[in-house]
Amino acid sequence: MCGIIGFKGQGKVTDQLVEGLKRMEYRGYDSWGVAALTKNGIFLEKKVGAIGEGKLSRPPADATMGIAHTRWATHGGVTQENAHPHASSDGRFVVAQNGIVENYLELKAMLTKVGYQFKTPTDTEVIVHLIHHRLKQASSFREAVRQAFLKLAGRNTIIVLDQQTKSIVAVRNGSPLVLGHLPKGVLLASDTLPLAGKAETVTYIDDMQLVVVDGDVSFYDVKTGRTLHPKRQKLDLVEQKVDKEGYDHFMLKEIVEQQHTVVEAASYSEKELVPLVAALKHARNIYTIGSGTASYAAGQVAYFLRTIALLPAQELRAYEVDSYLPFFDSHDLLIVVSQSGETADTLEAVRKAQIERVKIASIVNMIGSTLSRISDYPYFSRSGPEICVVSTKAYTAQIVWGYLLAMTYAGRFELAQKRIHALAKQLKTYFQPKTFTTIKKLIPELEKDQHLFVLGKGQHFYTGFESALKLKETVYMHCESFSAGELKHGVITLIKKGTPVFGILGDDQYKNDLLVALAEVRARGAKTIGIAAENNEFFDLHVPTPDGGDLDVITKVVPCQLLSYFLAVHLGNNPDKPRNLAKSVTVK
Ligand code: GLU
Repeated sequence: MCGIIGFKGQGKVTDQLVEGLKRMEYRGYDSWGVAALTKNGIFLEKKVGAIGEGKLSRPPADATMGIAHTRWATHGGVTQENAHPHASSDGRFVVAQNGIVENYLELKAMLTKVGYQFKTPTDTEVIVHLIHHRLKQASSFREAVRQAFLKLAGRNTIIVLDQQTKSIVAVRNGSPLVLGHLPKGVLLASDTLPLAGKAETVTYIDDMQLVVVDGDVSFYDVKTGRTLHPKRQKLDLVEQKVDKEGYDHFMLKEIVEQQHTVVEAASYSEKELVPLVAALKHARNIYTIGSGTASYAAGQVAYFLRTIALLPAQELRAYEVDSYLPFFDSHDLLIVVSQSGETADTLEAVRKAQIERVKIASIVNMIGSTLSRISDYPYFSRSGPEICVVSTKAYTAQIVWGYLLAMTYAGRFELAQKRIHALAKQLKTYFQPKTFTTIKKLIPELEKDQHLFVLGKGQHFYTGFESALKLKETVYMHCESFSAGELKHGVITLIKKGTPVFGILGDDQYKNDLLVALAEVRARGAKTIGIAAENNEFFDLHVPTPDGGDLDVITKVVPCQLLSYFLAVHLGNNPDKPRNLAKSVTVK
């Protein structure tokens, strides 16, 4: 969600800034802007909508440094004026922000009282005037930014470009910020993707740290103003092509990539899993946690830990963790699932758990993210950049990792590896034009429906939730999932003639429960769609999928991902960038 870039160095500054923004497009945004320092002052251009070719009207040739931003609006509509960077009233500096100034009304009232006039309803403008106000007394520009920042409530990361001191000042509290050291210059960004292939070493800016880029690069503690010397780290990230490679959308490309990413996610040796296996052994309580799709992956990881490792793991939702806090202590283990490793709700839950000294394990896709860096046991799902806003390959990778962990605990590491490789082969065979044609045949059956239901049970309890979420996210259709057991306890009232009901069936002890549930809804007029290896008399329509054995959760979610994709495209939606959604949800 939202991207911040800062650049000082060789090459055309505005090109570098736009390229950085483009590499972070996947995070989600609705408008964007670029500011660069030139001989004649600050060049500033802002636009609404997609970056596209990233063409600016008169990009300066003589710029030496600059900042840029993709906005995901929270305060004030999506307009050119509200886009960042925002300039100070005297034009001396510009500011871009990621986050929400929670006390902005209070600050706005104070600033209005001392004479500032507001041009936009954004919370960002408050920061601009606050810095300007502080400048009247502060000993330096950096000091004015630091003092202003201390007045902001909420999770905010800001970047400021100042003409007079010819500097970039950035401060982090919450949303991520990383500084890449280039052969000649620096590149600041919200994540490591813009740095790949450019910076060999990076400095991760931590919460409440401030960085100044002028002739030099220096770091400060925001609370005390004291100089810091954070460690430079090697960036183990090869420049990955962020390209559709012939597919119409990233979503389809990433779905198909799962035939490889499931194996990558399991590319841990037994030895590398040993520390976490030991932590599982000693833990008094084991929780798994996430938000959105990652919460379903977390649920599935807990399911594997219960059914394979015979450990009483319990899934929690990150945004509902508070009532558990009184019971957390240093003997507990929290396994945290996140694609970005920057999800605000998840990080907040982790921080609260850390106060209670709970040990943190994490499975994250983005290298260098905050979550991995604050974890006691960091692991990576290694799926490569997931550009489509809705998650597919990261979800299945996280699940595969959970399976490998549970099997390793149960002393079956080798067998798990064998099964994961077999799954990859099954997926390879599945991703054929024939499969796509079968799934597309469902489009006329579903395109006019307003409500759609999914039933799962046991291992497919979370597969159902994730499938329903995919349809909601890409098709904008009301789609809900229930356990087959839930049906008779109320949900069955929703079934009318023609209501589509998916049943997700594995070859397991719950198969009959699912068939009974489908028979019951069918008797009340529902159109039943079986996602199963074999056809059955209770299915009106059958979506054949391979029997995935222990990993059936993956072979069953994949057709639902494909259906969401094809239906969304058919309805004219862009599945890569669903309306109102952002990928990396770094605000609460
Ligand atoms: N709250 C700010 C705004 O609405 C920043 C949002 C963002 O993080 O992009 O402009």
